[in-house]
Amino acid sequence: MDKKIRVLVAKPGLDGHDRGALIIAQALRDHGMEVIYTGLRQSPAQIAQAAIQEDVDVIGLSSLSGAHRSLFPKVVEQLRERNADDIFVIGGGVIPAEDIPYLEERGIKKVFTPGSTTDAIASYIKELITPSSQSIAQSPKRIAHIGIAVKSIDDVIHFYHHVLGLHLSRVEEVPTEGVKVAFLKIGDTSIELLEPINEQSTIYKYIEKRGEGIHHIAFEVEDIEARLKYYKEQKVELIHDTPQPGAHDSKIAFLHPKAANGVLYELCEYKGEE
Ligand code: ZN
Repeated sequence: MDKKIRVLVAKPGLDGHDRGALIIAQALRDHGMEVIYTGLRQSPAQIAQAAIQEDVDVIGLSSLSGAHRSLFPKVVEQLRERNADDIFVIGGGVIPAEDIPYLEERGIKKVFTPGSTTDAIASYIKELITPSSQSIAQSPKRIAHIGIAVKSIDDVIHFYHHVLGLHLSRVEEVPTEGVKVAFLKIGDTSIELLEPINEQSTIYKYIEKRGEGIHHIAFEVEDIEARLKYYKEQKVELIHDTPQPGAHDSKIAFLHPKAANGVLYELCEYKGEE
């Protein structure tokens, strides 16, 4: 895209601190965006008006005052009243996690908290305006499966299949990972039992060290290459930075557990049916 992304950074409400907003504004300029800063104490109507006059793509709202619950949605309403709801609104500041769903339900595209880096905000905005593939900035499609490390699939299949009553859909070996896997369907997702087939297998080492149990959670995604690239830009630690061949003709990659509170996440992309 030749045209520069235009962003209005605004601080609605009464709080008198704009250091955070100024830092974001400068960081977005460093990422090649045109940034207009409205200054302090703007009303939602003034912000919407300025966004339209300046023909921006995105409004970034910042709040430290705790008034975000009323003020952020009012900006979205003011845009809607002026038929300008094609302008994206994102928000940031000291915002408790429980307010994020409330704000996102009211039309705030994404809420950033003090843990977010300015680089993460900038690459989110770029994805929002010019998606590099089918919306990397969107949520993965679903939990494809939950992986459970077991010593022997044959020993536990009675419990999963007969006692829990889960439908066993397939069993196969993935030699590259040194495992045999069994998939048991439950609704739109599956339990994946992983049995090591040799001592080099990471599952073998996992069971030696920690015993049997939950090993990983897998998300189905649409474009695994693009998503890995996006995560790299977001400085997420990865085990694989390129996709590996997975079970049933899928492409997979693992995030490093350090990136996610000790949880191992897998990404899977399927060609057709899982
Ligand atoms: Zn898996």
